[in-house]
Amino acid sequence: MDPQEFRAQAHKMVDFIADYYRDVESLPVRSQVTPGYLRSSLPSNAPEEPQSFDTVLDDVKSMIVPGVTHWQNPNFFGFFPSNSSTAGMLGEFLSGGFNVDGSEWATSPAATELEMLVLNWLGKLLNLPDEFLFNRSGNGGGVIHASASEAVLVALLAARGRAISENKAKGLEEQEILSKLLVYTSDQTHPCLHKACVIVGLPKSNLVILPTLATDDCALSLSILKSAVQDSLAKGFIPFFLGATVGTTSSSAIDPLPALADIAKEYGMWFHVDAAYAGNACICPEFRHFLNGVENAHSFNLSANKWLLTNIDCSILWLKFLNLLFFIHTISFQLKTSSIQSRVVNFKDWQVAQGRRFRQVRIILFPLTWDTLFRSLKLWFVMRLYGASGLRSHIRTHINHAKHFEVLVREDSRFEV
Ligand code: PLP
Repeated sequence: MDPQEFRAQAHKMVDFIADYYRDVESLPVRSQVTPGYLRSSLPSNAPEEPQSFDTVLDDVKSMIVPGVTHWQNPNFFGFFPSNSSTAGMLGEFLSGGFNVDGSEWATSPAATELEMLVLNWLGKLLNLPDEFLFNRSGNGGGVIHASASEAVLVALLAARGRAISENKAKGLEEQEILSKLLVYTSDQTHPCLHKACVIVGLPKSNLVILPTLATDDCALSLSILKSAVQDSLAKGFIPFFLGATVGTTSSSAIDPLPALADIAKEYGMWFHVDAAYAGNACICPEFRHFLNGVENAHSFNLSANKWLLTNIDCSILWLKFLNLLFFIHTISFQLKTSSIQSRVVNFKDWQVAQGRRFRQVRIILFPLTWDTLFRSLKLWFVMRLYGASGLRSHIRTHINHAKHFEVLVREDSRFEV
């Protein structure tokens, strides 16, 4: 495809997307198709000869659109807000255009440096402590993952690495340590922590899920946690990870971070805070108090794609102690390591995958992804095209809608809040 041809096709694609956004409210939110509908409509083999762009776009309109659940329809109220924006989409488009692999600083310096910059911007909007930001001390910083699940997995891996090394220093064997490591969390925590435990090879019984009460707003109970930890210590286990949430998925529970941080510190546990969707609200000063205590966490994750107008995927993990990422191999099997390598951030060491984008190709090797994307571009576009004030106003509008909805629910005797 020559540049002229690409230009013409891209214009048609932009027209299609612009029309889609114009009309999306008139489409049924849920697709009306039945399972297997596409198999009976499209050929079962790839075309031998190239087809025209118009033919493909026609099929998108007639066959793909009916099978889409329209998350961008303003009447979509499922799961969590989907909130993409045209600003994010433009960044995504550019990322696809550059199509670079930012796994190491040297593979595309702008990809690494923009990610560092933009995550510092967001970290400052959230009023995160300096230890979570890229600064001269070089100990902290953020990295964009494909999902909150991956961010939690990486935090758990770092914590596990720390626990193994600390306990080896006490003379224990690795296998023994692994069988004794315990993770604590509440029954409201997103199942991604369960999945992360499975992936890192912790026995199912080593995840301690603590009960919560509706009367405590479903928050983690300090007394239940403390007695569970003491009980396990008495039995010779090693409590090593405490997972708290700000805004649990099903009940919006806010765990009491400051007191939990104290308990984690007392027992030498890694303290992780998952604020995947609700944390976004904390860019507004009036909601920031929900994150109080995060300053004492080791790691913290938030998904800008859940409430901050950035297209899926944009899940950020901030860590205070990068040296604790020694769990991920830092060998470079593609590049000859130059002297510059040791002085820069190489994001491949902060994640499961080696590659990372400026490009939109993903090969899924369950449960890990090989993902090469320049995700910071879309967040950068969003933050610049909206400005902090625009983002705050977006959050406040949603919260006002929620407050209005609460009034309606309270007025209706069939429901309770
Ligand atoms: N943590 C919380 C609090 C969530 O609400 C969710 C998803 O809704 C997740 C983690 C998992 O997010 P992801 O689908 O990005 O892995």
